Amino acid sequence: MSLSQLARSIKESPTLKLNETAARLRDKGEPVIHLGGGEPKSKAPIDAVVNCATQLNSGDVKYAPADGMPALKKAIIRYTEEQYGRLVAPENVVASSGAKQAIMVLLHAILDPKDEVIFPAPYWVSYPEMVKLAGGVPVVVTAEDGSFQPRIEEIAEAVGSYTKAIILNSPNNPSGAMYAPGFVAAVVELCEKKGLYLVMDDLYNRLVFDGKAAPNAYEFSKAETDQSKLIVVQGVSKMYAMTGFRIGWAIANRELAAAMANIQSHQTSGPATPSQWAAVGALSGVQSSIPSLRMTLENQRNVMVERLDAFDGVRVTRPAGTFYCFPDFSAYEKDSAKLAEFLLEKVRVVVVPGKDFGMDGYIRLSYCGALKDVTEGIERMKWALDPNAPNELFLGDRKLVRDWL
Ligand code: PMP
Repeated sequence: MSLSQLARSIKESPTLKLNETAARLRDKGEPVIHLGGGEPKSKAPIDAVVNCATQLNSGDVKYAPADGMPALKKAIIRYTEEQYGRLVAPENVVASSGAKQAIMVLLHAILDPKDEVIFPAPYWVSYPEMVKLAGGVPVVVTAEDGSFQPRIEEIAEAVGSYTKAIILNSPNNPSGAMYAPGFVAAVVELCEKKGLYLVMDDLYNRLVFDGKAAPNAYEFSKAETDQSKLIVVQGVSKMYAMTGFRIGWAIANRELAAAMANIQSHQTSGPATPSQWAAVGALSGVQSSIPSLRMTLENQRNVMVERLDAFDGVRVTRPAGTFYCFPDFSAYEKDSAKLAEFLLEKVRVVVVPGKDFGMDGYIRLSYCGALKDVTEGIERMKWALDPNAPNELFLGDRKLVRDWL
């Protein structure tokens, strides 16, 4: 069979693959603990479910406009005004089948072959592959000081004649780090000075801990919305725990938004209408599920960090938001893919190798599942890796004896 060069150049999504592996092992009755997940376990807000169900009951489920139905755009405009203090027009909004599609059509709308897109490491696994899918070249900037936030000078040094855009994801998947306001301001200024697009992937910006708030890039931007190359990407997946509905959006200048809608119209048409009704319900309904999710996650973050701190040799940077933690396990194993395989094989704990996020030696651990999974998962990991841990461990009623340390 002959596949295209493009198809052969794209890596499988490691996180989705892990979900499949975990599900397969669970089906076989294996006591798997999934610390690799990327979705809150809470239910969708009731207003989302009710709005969707009411509309579904009418049986009238038809195509929607390619860039989203008017009711959803209205709800997104209100959200943008409330959360970002920016009043935008319906022509600035493109609703897509997940933030993933919003980013994908955006890249298709701005990239010519060989154009470069810069993003800091660690980065969301999909950025490099999405940039390649759109014909561009991913350029990763890794902080010299080993932290999760490069200096603005390091970003500026990566800008060249082919640079088209910079993507920032803050708070960040996988590190949970939130970039400092001064850094975001400097990147906005750099992009405005050099005429670059700046994509703010704000998917986790409501899931921020310790009473803090994520920096709002609009505050640092001097350009009017329709003259601006700043694009804000959002979605219902994480903040409302509505991953399966597949609704995300981008706010962009009119010209770019129209180009994105045009591409989307040939790609998938508008997002599924029942999902759009659900998103309207979530955005317009009672908002208590967001603070409640944030509190749960903050508590689970605290527990995870505390347990990891007790792990000899593991370096942990306290996540400021999201539901991920990105500890450095290189003291135990420098090859993070090997470490992930080892943990799955020996103690049935699923973690995601840092290699896939651009930083080997690290692993991504999620605390969006049950608290018991966090504590038991880390206990199993400690048993598997720490020579000082007791020699035996019970997985359910199965007794494991460690014979590799
Ligand atoms: N951006 C980031 C940083 C993400 O982590 C994700 C989901 N894992 C997305 C975008 C895409 O989210 P969705 O397509 O579910 O809206």
